[in-house]
Amino acid sequence: MGNAERIDFHVHLKKGDALISERALVKKLEKEGLNIILLEHNSLPEVNHPQIICAEEVSANCCDIIAVNIQEEIERGDANSVLDSIKEQGGIAILAHLGRYLDLSKDLLKKFDAIEAINGRTRMKQNILAFVRAVELGIPVVGGSDAHFLQEVGNVVTLGDFDAINEGKFVVRDIQLNRLSTFSERLGSHVLSVLRNPKKFPKKVRLLWKKMSGF
Ligand SMILES: [Zn+2]
Repeated sequence: MGNAERIDFHVHLKKGDALISERALVKKLEKEGLNIILLEHNSLPEVNHPQIICAEEVSANCCDIIAVNIQEEIERGDANSVLDSIKEQGGIAILAHLGRYLDLSKDLLKKFDAIEAINGRTRMKQNILAFVRAVELGIPVVGGSDAHFLQEVGNVVTLGDFDAINEGKFVVRDIQLNRLSTFSERLGSHVLSVLRNPKKFPKKVRLLWKKMSGF
C-alpha cells in the first residue's frame, strides 16, 4: 500500500465568499497533518505550501468543475470546452458536488477523472445519490468539505496520494466523514438516520454507503 494522506478536496480561502485567512489555515493544516485542494471560483489561488494544492473551481454552464494541476486559469463556459482546456494543460477534472445536479448525462459524467460525491455543504441525501451514481458509472469518488469557515476544513476528507495528485495523477482510496464540530455531527447523525430508515433508500445504496463511510 502506497501513500494514503488525508486530503480535503474542497477548501475556499478568504477571497470571494469565504472567510478563511491563509495564516490560520496553514496553522491548522500543520497542526492536524491535513492536506487540501485550495480553490477559488474562476481563478487560481497562489499559496505556496507543501500541504496545499492550488486549483480552480470553474463555473461551467451546467455545473462547477474543479481543475487541478493546471498552469493557467481556465475560462468559464460550456462544460465540454472547460474539460478540453483542463485536458490540454494535463490537468485533472473533478465534477464538484454532483448531488446538486443529479440529472447530468452519463456521457458527460464519464468525461471526468473523478466526482466529488460527498460535499460538506450539500444535503446528505443528495450526496448519497451522487455517490451511488458515480460508483455505478465506475468513476473515482472524492469528498471535500467545501469549507468557507476554518472550522469546516477537514469535515470531509479523502484518503489518497497527495503527491501523485499534485503531479496530475489521480490516486484516491476512500472517504471519511470527520470531526466533532457541530457541522459534521450533523452529517454523521444524518447518515445514521438514513441507515435507520431503510425504506428511504434501496439496499445497495445503504450497503455502499456503509462500506464507504464506516458508519
Ligand atoms: Zn466551492
